Amino acid sequence: MSLPDHSDVVAAAVRLAGVAHRTPVLTSRTADAATGASLYFKCEALQRGGAFKFRGAYNAIAALPEAQRRTGVVAYSSGNHAQAIAYAASLLGVPATIVMPADAPAAKLAATRGYGGTVVLYDRYTDDREAIGRRIAQEQGLSLIPPYDHRDVIAGQGTAALELFEEVGPLDVLVACLGGGGLTAGSVLAADGASPGCAVWGAEPEAGDDGRRSLAEGRIVHIEVPKTIADGAQTQHLGDLTFAILRRGAAGIVTASDAQLVQAMRFFAERMKLVVEPTGALAAAAVFSGAIPVKGLRVGVILSGGNVDVARYAALLQGG
Ligand SMILES: *Cc1c(COP(=O)(O)O)cnc(C)c1O
Repeated sequence: MSLPDHSDVVAAAVRLAGVAHRTPVLTSRTADAATGASLYFKCEALQRGGAFKFRGAYNAIAALPEAQRRTGVVAYSSGNHAQAIAYAASLLGVPATIVMPADAPAAKLAATRGYGGTVVLYDRYTDDREAIGRRIAQEQGLSLIPPYDHRDVIAGQGTAALELFEEVGPLDVLVACLGGGGLTAGSVLAADGASPGCAVWGAEPEAGDDGRRSLAEGRIVHIEVPKTIADGAQTQHLGDLTFAILRRGAAGIVTASDAQLVQAMRFFAERMKLVVEPTGALAAAAVFSGAIPVKGLRVGVILSGGNVDVARYAALLQGG
């Protein structure tokens, strides 16, 4: 198994130049005073498609050989990855098939179809989406692009951290939101060349701490689908590539509770006028709660996404 490295992140940045948004980096005196650190928030909620997933999706499709691009790609996901693949494929003129749960929110199904993606529905309680994705890939000769365990996806996700280092210089700590580990692993690779010595942490939901346990036990721990409002991090296990990269290069993985996520979301809404989805608040919540030592340090925090239904967002902030 050959792992991607810093040069793959740099290559991804070249592919994404002028395509992905160079998202803003914001600061907050209130947050700095509360934590005793200098915090730099990388606002991927403002990325195309509303999350960093666009980076990995576009990079993976753009990196395919021409013949494979003509035939098309297939992806399975209920959330941001599916929309990112459909969006990136439409920009590149590549046919995309997306395997989505039949009970996915109507808005997400409509958005995916709106980008021109062919949607194949499955039953999330009885069907195995990975198996369906693999079968479609095989039958139709499509390239399967998984949500995190893929070299070019990981390298693409790493470009968010690379931009952050380019903008604010080397950091002591960088914290990413963690589901399957693509964003955090990509951040490790970005730091390798751009900010050596930076401690890269992943933050995952308290209800689904498979990542933390995997690093502690030295093997990929599998769990049931965790019950958490962080729907983008309801992953059941790390991938082979992401685990290997995190094991070598991550400082650690910590957790945040749903209540801490809501508290962080409220902070971004009230103080910074930013809509951050529950999963997108994982890294910030872990810093605010003190789970990661940051006092006196320069700290990057990736706000990974902002895709949340407005009614649900309002209900969460009201504590409903
Ligand atoms: C997918 C996603 C994550 C988790 O990313 P991984 O690469 O699976 O670790 C975090 N935040 C948001 C907003 C996401 O969509």
